[in-house]
Amino acid sequence: MTDVIHLLPDHVANQIAAGEVVQRPASVIKELLENAIDACGTNIKILVKEAGKTLIQVTDNGKGMSVTDARLCFERHATSKINSAEDLFSLKTKGFRGEALASIAAIAHVELKSRRQDDEVGTCIKIEGSEVTSQEACVTPVGTTICVKNLFYNIPARRNFLKSDTVELRHVIDEFQRVALAHPAIQFSLFHNGSELFQLPEANYRQRIVNIFGGKTNEKLVPVEEDTAIVKIHGFVGKPEFAKKGRGEQFFFVNDRFIKSPYLNHAVTAAFEGLLKDKAYPSYFLFLDVDPKSIDINIHPTKTEIKFDDEHALYTILRSSIKHSLGQFNVAPVLDFDRDSSLDTPYDFSQKEITPPKVEVDPNFNPFKTERSGGGYTPNYRTEKSAGSWQSLYNGLRSEGTESFSERTQVEFESDQVTGNLFGLKDEGEAGGTTFQLNKKYIVTTLKSGILVIDQQRAHTRILYEELLKNITVTSAVSQQLLFPLSIQFSTNEMELLKEIKDSLEQTGFIFSEVKKDGVEISGIPTLISESEVEILLEQLLLDLENEVPGAAFSQVDTLAKSLSRGMAVKSGTALNIAEQQNIVNSLFACKESSVSPFNKPVFITLTVDELDKKFM
Ligand code: ADP
Ligand code: MG
Repeated sequence: MTDVIHLLPDHVANQIAAGEVVQRPASVIKELLENAIDACGTNIKILVKEAGKTLIQVTDNGKGMSVTDARLCFERHATSKINSAEDLFSLKTKGFRGEALASIAAIAHVELKSRRQDDEVGTCIKIEGSEVTSQEACVTPVGTTICVKNLFYNIPARRNFLKSDTVELRHVIDEFQRVALAHPAIQFSLFHNGSELFQLPEANYRQRIVNIFGGKTNEKLVPVEEDTAIVKIHGFVGKPEFAKKGRGEQFFFVNDRFIKSPYLNHAVTAAFEGLLKDKAYPSYFLFLDVDPKSIDINIHPTKTEIKFDDEHALYTILRSSIKHSLGQFNVAPVLDFDRDSSLDTPYDFSQKEITPPKVEVDPNFNPFKTERSGGGYTPNYRTEKSAGSWQSLYNGLRSEGTESFSERTQVEFESDQVTGNLFGLKDEGEAGGTTFQLNKKYIVTTLKSGILVIDQQRAHTRILYEELLKNITVTSAVSQQLLFPLSIQFSTNEMELLKEIKDSLEQTGFIFSEVKKDGVEISGIPTLISESEVEILLEQLLLDLENEVPGAAFSQVDTLAKSLSRGMAVKSGTALNIAEQQNIVNSLFACKESSVSPFNKPVFITLTVDELDKKFM
């Protein structure tokens, strides 16, 4: 008998390792970002196409690599970060296994360009499925750019396993945020399919959180600070009244590494005891610094769990320091001395350079265009000429040439019956009934006695919500048949929920051609949504239902309508043409309840001439 054991060739071993390290585009982002940080980059730029399936490019201005290192970094177990096993106990870097680049290069087309400060030229290496296809000198800035194209090109099964772009992009953004939160001193930007998703300047921790999660976050943050022999804690918890229904913004970082810990999460929740409404989850951004010796650092790259030496002490310290912070905050809710003044409105304009405000002009809006079949009365001020002089107000503020304005004049108005009828207005001589969009967020329409400003997203949510409720309870909706059935995987829990609401979903237009243990096949969807949205809508719906009281039939239907309408509604930031604007206005006022959204937020406000007059007094 001959021996049967042999060593696997490198490219096979790498591919197997890749199966563990690289699960999806987001894993590549994580590894490349960590390498860029380990290389002391201060400005890191990420470009992603099709949620990272076709392109992921990370550029840093860090220390770069020599010609030899650039070649070596793709070998398995090649690392500059540790030399011996002892180094593992004083680890300051994110990486140390020397596996990531080898794994990535085994399953994608990779191009690396790198230059060190002292080198005159850089190196460019191309590698495909672990094979170096070229290596040459090149001109490149100091630092490293790694470009990962066509992920899983040689493993179709893995490629097919990837979820929709929307879902994969959400994972990418999650990873990005985790890294960016832990490193506020580093500038980050993230672009997807050419549009900017994040542009994060150098900041402190509070500013970084606000830059990622929006200006409103600032007032919600309560600082937490604790320094003990076992652990140093800093960061923020969200004020109890802003706690969310879903587990949204919950972040633990241990030694600047994002981790998940149900145990520590429990400590935080315990600190909030009695302060939270039922089913609400507090948000938190907590940074724990511990001695690297006290944790098991041999963490797998994709795993976010961690083992502490003295978990119990950590629990107690965490809970009590958060309690303390919340207590302090409750005693003095107004005077927040830890407030970061740099985030306040800058009153000190004397030091500011004066720049003209940016005016966003909606190219589809032309309030002066004469109607096609109007009632014969055309007020003078609607002529092109006055349009021109009106436009001249913005001269110098716009960068486009004049031809863009003439384009604008070609827009046809539908009619102005909408608000005219609803508000009992006659349109003779009035500018009433025309609509335009403000900031791609509000639809403004004129009334006889003033103006009406409608939040487009909330209005559309209300319209869809009522329509969905009607479909579920009264008449069922029509479906659009899919050419190829859509197959979506769900967890066991999700499948349970899905079965409960299957009938209601079918009423809204979904057709389930197959219901399996671990997923469904969908052959028809509501006419109002597109195929690419289905997966994310259903995922969100299941999440919403999980957070809702289970089993209550009425509330389930309501949650379903709320969740789907929220997902399907046009978002703020979407340009709408005149017909779409008027359609929304029309349908909104045909609703049973037009003034509030399904989530109890006001849908529109009015501003009367009287109120305007007062403002001018
Ligand atoms: P690890 O990070 O665990 O060391 P990687 O496979 O991620 O393993 O990277 C291998 C080596 O390549 C690193 O140890 C580092 O020396 C080098 N390297 C990777 N990315 C960069 C980068 N952006 N800048 C400089 N060196 C890098
Ligand atoms: Mg690494």
